[in-house]
Amino acid sequence: MDPATQHKVAVVTGAASGIGLAVARRLARDGAHVAVLDLNADAAETAAAKIRADGGTATAAQADVSDRESVDRAYAEVRARFGPLAILVHSAGIEGFDRFSTITTERWNRVVAVNLTGTFHCCQAAVEDMIEAGWGRIVTISSSSAQSGQPFMTHYVASKAGVIGLTKALALELGPSGITVNTIPPGFIDTPMTRRSEERGLLGGSVDHHASLTPVRRAGLPEDIAAACAFLVSEEAGYVTGQVFGVNGGRNT
Ligand code: NAP
Repeated sequence: MDPATQHKVAVVTGAASGIGLAVARRLARDGAHVAVLDLNADAAETAAAKIRADGGTATAAQADVSDRESVDRAYAEVRARFGPLAILVHSAGIEGFDRFSTITTERWNRVVAVNLTGTFHCCQAAVEDMIEAGWGRIVTISSSSAQSGQPFMTHYVASKAGVIGLTKALALELGPSGITVNTIPPGFIDTPMTRRSEERGLLGGSVDHHASLTPVRRAGLPEDIAAACAFLVSEEAGYVTGQVFGVNGGRNT
């Protein structure tokens, strides 16, 4: 248990699967009251129920992060249940694999709407509580692909580069209010998203193949990201803000 995280209200988006799920579990283990927010209401409830069964405090919330009204509605339910938000870890996102010349405007807009505008919605809807309290922790989940570039992912990479820029600018704006804002750009984490891409032959090799090329010789686990999040939302990380906090097994340095 982290005494600083105890009883703090934490919203984790995209928390029914992969990285978000591991973060929700970890913050609950550290004593936070966790809102498991996801597009899929049933999956969010299943994840929240599992956290409760493991002794944590959790509630499920359904929202499409690209839709501001649904985010506001979900946050209102969380506030009514647990109180003002103190921590936000924003992991909801979608992948994009398309040859640049074939990307339609609709496809481009959807990837940006979920990954970048969704980050804007989820952060903006949370900050008022944190400003009022004079304390807050925001962690966005970007992507190492925005550090290195990645072919056939221009829409995805552009959206995640936007998340890095948003994070840096917001950190400077909110620093005087006692709120830190950092981003984790994961690099090759073994999640349902990664396995779906592997099955569709979009990774340019298997997960095992990429793991063998990674300096630490394994794929990342969602728990690796959760551990970094646990630090970034802690009291002792109060002097860490505006940072791009890489968790990638040495794939990007
Ligand atoms: P994941 O297993 O697919 O989990 C993503 C979760 O976000 C899913 O539960 C998904 O719900 C939810 N979601 C998608 N669109 C949403 C929306 N509009 N509103 C609310 N929730 C939504 O993927 P992951 O690998 O854990 O990825 C988590 C984050 O890390 C993403 O932002 C991803 O871009 C980023 N990332 C991952 C890696 C990696 O190696 N895995 C690398 C770099 C960055 P549904 O399943 O119902 O769609």
